[in-house]
Amino acid sequence: MGKKEQKSGKKEIPKELFDILACPLCKADLEYTKDRKGLSCSGCGAKYPINDGIPVLMPPK
Ligand SMILES: [Zn+2]
Repeated sequence: MGKKEQKSGKKEIPKELFDILACPLCKADLEYTKDRKGLSCSGCGAKYPINDGIPVLMPPK
């Protein structure tokens, strides 16, 4: 409560980008992992890393 988005420190995905992100496997919405270092799919549970503020949506092989 009361915490605002921090502009310094680790980068976060811009909201405009976050809004259009979808899992490449099942097209479900993505959400931050608990440590906010990556994204996880709300549908199939696939995990994706965030590289310098850019989500890397490479389907696992
Ligand atoms: Zn998925």
